[in-house]
Amino acid sequence: MSLNAISTTLTASKLTLPVAVFGMMLGLAGCSNSSTTEDSAEVETSAAGTEQPVANDGAANNNVNADDQTVTIYSSRNEQLIKPLLDRYTEQTGVKIDLVTDKTGPLMARLQAEGQNTPADMLLTVDAGNLWQAAEQGLLQPVASTVLESNVPAKYRDPKGQWTGLSLRARTIFYDPSKVSADQLSTYADLADPKWKGKLCLRTSKKVYNQSLVASMMEHLGEEKTEEVIRGWVDNLATDVFSDDTSMLEAIAAGQCEVGVANSYYYGRLLDEKPNFPVKIFWANQGTTGTHVNISGAGVVADSDNPDGALKLMEWLSSDEAQGLYASADKEFPVKEGIDESELLRSWGEFKKDDINVQKFGELQTQAIQMMDKAGYK
Ligand code: FE
Repeated sequence: MSLNAISTTLTASKLTLPVAVFGMMLGLAGCSNSSTTEDSAEVETSAAGTEQPVANDGAANNNVNADDQTVTIYSSRNEQLIKPLLDRYTEQTGVKIDLVTDKTGPLMARLQAEGQNTPADMLLTVDAGNLWQAAEQGLLQPVASTVLESNVPAKYRDPKGQWTGLSLRARTIFYDPSKVSADQLSTYADLADPKWKGKLCLRTSKKVYNQSLVASMMEHLGEEKTEEVIRGWVDNLATDVFSDDTSMLEAIAAGQCEVGVANSYYYGRLLDEKPNFPVKIFWANQGTTGTHVNISGAGVVADSDNPDGALKLMEWLSSDEAQGLYASADKEFPVKEGIDESELLRSWGEFKKDDINVQKFGELQTQAIQMMDKAGYK
């Protein structure tokens, strides 16, 4: 796996790029997200780090010092998605950013191997399950930030302050409207009902997104009921499991199956390419616990030489200015409340989100993996 280091070289320019132009740049980046780096790797756990919090009283948020050192980010986010935003930060503050992009697993292995010699200041990745693993391995340090506390709801942050959510994604039900009507759909658990026999498509259980979804079900339904549901899903499968959400959605469109589960932004990207894509979105569990939502997010690296610089950048990414753009670039939802969503996202309608604290996905990850294995979910 080759690492791709990119250094932004903009100097301390206070020039302001018109927001519309910037939005277009992000929009274009969002269209070209075919080669994602967001796949997870299965990782071992170890003892959590115990360093003291980096404190920031919040007053410095709008007064980032142009003399700050470079911030080095290890990121599993698509480079085209994140780079325009980081360039914007450099323009505003003069802070230089080194962006190193790879998949989450190799980035965490690299942080482990580098230890105190790591150049990394921030880990930027997807899924609370991954961020939780990084914290468990002692790769992140706790931060205390009134800015993050005010911008990011507590349920999307680590209670110990080792990571924070920066965007939201919903994992929900998709269906073929030529064969299924919305009133036949209700919950993730209902997809285990024999009425869906031979009609369900799923992504592999090896993906952290499904591990987090199953962890949330274990929390809500208990172990016994969740295992029953997983067995029902496996019984109902129309095809082998898929390696990614996009091919699963395309299988619904191609008539291979009638219902499936995917992250909302993959559907958004497909609609961008094919506005008449013949699949519809359904918000799962509206009458019960709410639709499963997960985060993309970041944490300050335990052995960072510039933890203050990393924290300031994280705070900026949670700001009003960054939030709408950051989230909409990947068809995601802002993590901060009261930020305008894109027209596409609004067209999918309001929905009730699961209120669970996303750190549960990490806590129950090992059990979720074991349960899916036991139930024959490949
Ligand atoms: Fe993804």
